[in-house]
Amino acid sequence: MTHGSGQSPHRSGPTEKCGVVGVALDDRAAARPLYYSLYALQHRGQESAGIVTHDGFQQHDHVEMGLVGDAFDEADIERLNGDSGIGHVRYPTAGSVDKSCAQPFTVSFKSGSLALSHNGNLVNAGEIRDELAGLGHAFTSDGDTEVIAHDLARNLLEADLVRAVKRTMSRIHGSYSLTIMHDETVLGVRDPEGNRPLCIGELDDGYVLASESAAIDTLDGDLVRDVQPGELVVLHEDGSGFDSYQLVEQENTAHCFFEHVYFARPDSVIDDELVYEVRRELGRHLWDESGIETDVVMPVPDSGRAFASGYAEAAQEAGSTTEFAEGLMKNRYVGRTFIMPTQDERERAVRLKLNPIKSTVEGKTVTLIDDSIVRGTTSTQLVALLKDCGAEEVHMRIGAPPIVAPCYMGIDMATREELIAANQDVEDIREAIEADSLSYLSIDAVADALNRSRADLCLGCVTGEYPYDIDGESTDREVERPVIGGQDLAADD
Ligand code: AMP
Repeated sequence: MTHGSGQSPHRSGPTEKCGVVGVALDDRAAARPLYYSLYALQHRGQESAGIVTHDGFQQHDHVEMGLVGDAFDEADIERLNGDSGIGHVRYPTAGSVDKSCAQPFTVSFKSGSLALSHNGNLVNAGEIRDELAGLGHAFTSDGDTEVIAHDLARNLLEADLVRAVKRTMSRIHGSYSLTIMHDETVLGVRDPEGNRPLCIGELDDGYVLASESAAIDTLDGDLVRDVQPGELVVLHEDGSGFDSYQLVEQENTAHCFFEHVYFARPDSVIDDELVYEVRRELGRHLWDESGIETDVVMPVPDSGRAFASGYAEAAQEAGSTTEFAEGLMKNRYVGRTFIMPTQDERERAVRLKLNPIKSTVEGKTVTLIDDSIVRGTTSTQLVALLKDCGAEEVHMRIGAPPIVAPCYMGIDMATREELIAANQDVEDIREAIEADSLSYLSIDAVADALNRSRADLCLGCVTGEYPYDIDGESTDREVERPVIGGQDLAADD
């Protein structure tokens, strides 16, 4: 979900990555499994957490700022009656503490109630908002989730559920994985490019939809499959199964490669690939493309760990004597440093978060592995830290290509001005972070590790060419932008 859609894409305002979930059970309260699922998806959003359930007569909701464990107490969960429901965790954004942005978003209309949880970002929300506002819809937030909710509510006045969703999908353009509850029916929708993940799981007494399969594991369920790009999944209210409708067919997908590189949990399976194995494979490619002989290879915890293990394995297979070592310890009680508002605070936070282990660093040549460099804060701090601790050389190896452009599709990255690779080449960056050498991974290696062709990935942040039609940016494909307004429902049968 994004606020301020329709503003200039060059804005420095927030964009968000979130976690969504939906559950339909046979005669068991949905609130607790939703709560556990949100816990499993906490890494996808720490700013707010919310659950909306339906008991057959009415909705019950609880949405709070903060971490899942703080947002709900036992009484809140007890109050959330009903055996179907949806949930949401929202990604934090610099300085934003606005509860009106928290989800699920709820709306009541003439023929029922709707609740929506959204992960992603529309690129044409502004146009639809203007059109609906002109038709008398009143908006209470500037988020694009509300735009989807109003559009769907409007379509539901004239059409059945499946046709209404189809019509809304034909109007919205961008990235969206949605869990929706219409009265007590829970549905999942994934955008035609499959940009953000969404999967289906089976429980003993029902079904679950979740951003990542780790949530299904937490409920002791079985992963059934990914929701396909352009697919609508409707869970049976009695938890007995689900119906599938392939509402939009698209020639190419635009899966976000960064989900695999950084965002998703390593124990999740996304689009048939176990994230941990993809990261190890990326690490192996990193050795193949730019391996360097040093005394030790160490990860930046936790994000670099799987990469470093794959890198070290490939190094050893190639006869290298480089040893895998844990050279940095992470203080697990320090939250995310990335979203700190000022550079000063970000630098201080890296130091609070990570401390070197002297015996594995002192007098050694070191290869330091991380998944990505965004602003360069972490790498700069860590190279200096390791050198202060007595490292003879520090070589950085990065498990992704240089991030040269912002993400408009729901990931809080940084603005173009802040991205260290936006206007500098690799040698400039090496100099800036004061590393002895620096190498990134190639885009081809990313596609290879993900088992996808480049044409099926969203690589916007590393190429500057997006799979969507974004004002002021170039696109890497023929994009048909939906025409807003004037559509008649008969056309979508
Ligand atoms: P930076 O310090 O700005 O270069 O950011 C790079 C570090 O932040 C790496 O250790 C990444 O694991 C992590 N990172 C990369 N992208 C993000 C993101 N969108 N949100 C939070 N952390 C990130």
